[in-house]
Amino acid sequence: MTSLRDVIAHEESVLAGSARLRSIHADAVRRGRASVAAVMDESGDSDDAETRLHRLYAQTLEEYAARVDREVPEADARTWRDLVSALPGDAWHDLLRTHGAAGAARLLEAMDLARNRTVPPAALDAALTAAARTCVCGYAKTGTLPKRLCQACAGAVGAAWVAEEQRLLQRAMTLQAEVGRILDEATSAIADARSRGEDAYGTEQVALARTRRKLARANRRHREERSRLDVSRWKELAGLARRASMPAMSAEARRARHRLGMAQLARLALHTNHDVQARMSSRARERGTS
Ligand SMILES: [Zn+2]
Repeated sequence: MTSLRDVIAHEESVLAGSARLRSIHADAVRRGRASVAAVMDESGDSDDAETRLHRLYAQTLEEYAARVDREVPEADARTWRDLVSALPGDAWHDLLRTHGAAGAARLLEAMDLARNRTVPPAALDAALTAAARTCVCGYAKTGTLPKRLCQACAGAVGAAWVAEEQRLLQRAMTLQAEVGRILDEATSAIADARSRGEDAYGTEQVALARTRRKLARANRRHREERSRLDVSRWKELAGLARRASMPAMSAEARRARHRLGMAQLARLALHTNHDVQARMSSRARERGTS
């Protein structure tokens, strides 16, 4: 029996291998989340919302599957179907089996996150509660802010900061699309830099600096859209992220100013980032087969 995590891990490696697939996926996530937000605005947390969301999920997955039909290599499509058919019985799993294609589990997860419109501070509290087990700085346990946040707490803060950024970007769709493109390029550039033997650090720093400049320009270009957003919570979380004990995260948080996209860049800059790692193994595979 497989789990949804196995399916998502497979999808990450498939998406890492194709820029076109990633762009279709990002577009589906954007539209899907906007539609979920619209349903929630209209029906709130009623039973009616559940029914409408279920229909919306099915429809979005079906449209996505039709768009990626020719993009997913046959072997990957087969692996995906095998994994999904081995999932236990569950409403979501049935949706995937009936309407999905590689990338659909991630899409479903991203859409479902948009239901929760009050991400932070609830998200930070939940993440800190989960971090309390491994926290060594005391913040997750006592709430007293130390000079440096331990990895567990900084991870929780980073996740809440990203969640708040995504919530804001959902309300600024042209900026969101541009930030998505910039960060996708950054993921590839960081993966390439880390795959280099010598001078990997220098190359990565150049890629990060270039991404910061691009994000700054994008935020300036869309200042009209941005000015409608309340970024106070985002800034508060950026302030917390500055205390991260991981230098890569604190460095990006210090340079974040008010640029949306920086929370996600701070996470990409971490050496443990899964998206970058997936892209690195996909590059290694390409090199192996060429
Ligand atoms: Zn801690």
